[in-house]
Amino acid sequence: MQFNTRLLHAESSFPMMHGEILPPVSQVSAFRYDTMESLEQVFHHKRMGYAYTRIGNPTITALERKINELEGGAGAVCCSSGMAAITSAILAVCESGDEIIAGSGLYGGTIDLLHDLEKLGIHTVFLKKLTDETLKNAINEKTRLVFGEMISNPAQQVLNVPEVSRVAHEYGIPLFVDSTTATPYIVRPLELGADAVIHSLSKYLNGGGNAIGGMIVDGGKFRWNPEKFSALSEFGKFGKGAFLVRLRTDIWENLGGCISPMNAYLCYIGTDTLGLRMERICQNADRLARALDRLPGIEVNYLTLPQHPYNDLVSKELNGYGGGILSFRAGSKGKAFRIINALKYAMIASNIGDVRTLVIHPASTLYLHTGRAEQEAAGVYDDTIRVSVGIEDAEDLIHDFTEAVLSSGSSDVRQ
Ligand code: PLP
Repeated sequence: MQFNTRLLHAESSFPMMHGEILPPVSQVSAFRYDTMESLEQVFHHKRMGYAYTRIGNPTITALERKINELEGGAGAVCCSSGMAAITSAILAVCESGDEIIAGSGLYGGTIDLLHDLEKLGIHTVFLKKLTDETLKNAINEKTRLVFGEMISNPAQQVLNVPEVSRVAHEYGIPLFVDSTTATPYIVRPLELGADAVIHSLSKYLNGGGNAIGGMIVDGGKFRWNPEKFSALSEFGKFGKGAFLVRLRTDIWENLGGCISPMNAYLCYIGTDTLGLRMERICQNADRLARALDRLPGIEVNYLTLPQHPYNDLVSKELNGYGGGILSFRAGSKGKAFRIINALKYAMIASNIGDVRTLVIHPASTLYLHTGRAEQEAAGVYDDTIRVSVGIEDAEDLIHDFTEAVLSSGSSDVRQ
């Protein structure tokens, strides 16, 4: 089966009770049983069944199976948001005294979270670029996790998953990859060597901008050493399943970050059109980037532009696709704001992955709590505009952005 067929006909569309073509929304908190013995068996994992929606729900299971299938994983856990997924994944592996190594080009919320975790004794070493070489120099006896983004946004760095995972594995450390901006349409990081893939479902997987959600997909191949990973010490008997079992039955269940069944349903139906949307979004982003690149005083950052430093990895890992996000530097913050305000079709909104084109000035919003050096490492400057390209007609988008740039006057002084 190819991608679009798999989206609609894969195993994950398991048989429904009344032959429904979509998973019904089981919008309930709890599930009733005829006898106490039956519920006891469910609690003891001796019988398949659901007890309480924070711990499991059929609509959520349907979504977990679908994304797991798309990523080629061993199992998936769905969360209330992308941030809940990142938090749960990290806390299932790391505890006080442990260290994480991460690339600096991360989403601002993830950088904030990693700073918050310092207070729990989990330290993060940020590398300007996460590569096999920089990783080798940074790993020490406390390192327990390497964390990177497949395509960082808006820095547009591509993670070299085969090389970075090879070095991580040499030292017995797993690599977790946030693949939100890439999606399984463009790349399946588990096949390249990642040990778990994380998504904010709120973006491309949902696609309609109507629900927040997150997902962790475990590759199930990493050999967890329970002596080294003391957070997993009680789960050693599950072997390669140790992370997934700890995640589901311990951290995730007790943190309480479950998705609502209705949001799981919205994300489920959203993924049906992932292939069509991504195809169109990537084409639009490429065309818009090339058009902006021809305008005077504008510096565009998009992966498929011929001058982009990651061209090689785009063809090796991303099947030639650049994803849906581009950024450009306008010359000054004032000019950036004037361009944004002049746009007719692109909406000013703090999100990505919508079918509608969205724009934002990241320095004054998403990276508000991030220091200037960290902002710049993440590809965010005072004059940067981030565009999440939608599925509108490319000609309209090109016209809209060209008019906005040309009507926005001089660039003042670049800051
Ligand atoms: N990861 C990436 C790459 C993101 O862009 C975002 C949000 O913008 C998140 C994670 C967090 O996702 P959520 O907003 O669903 O918590």
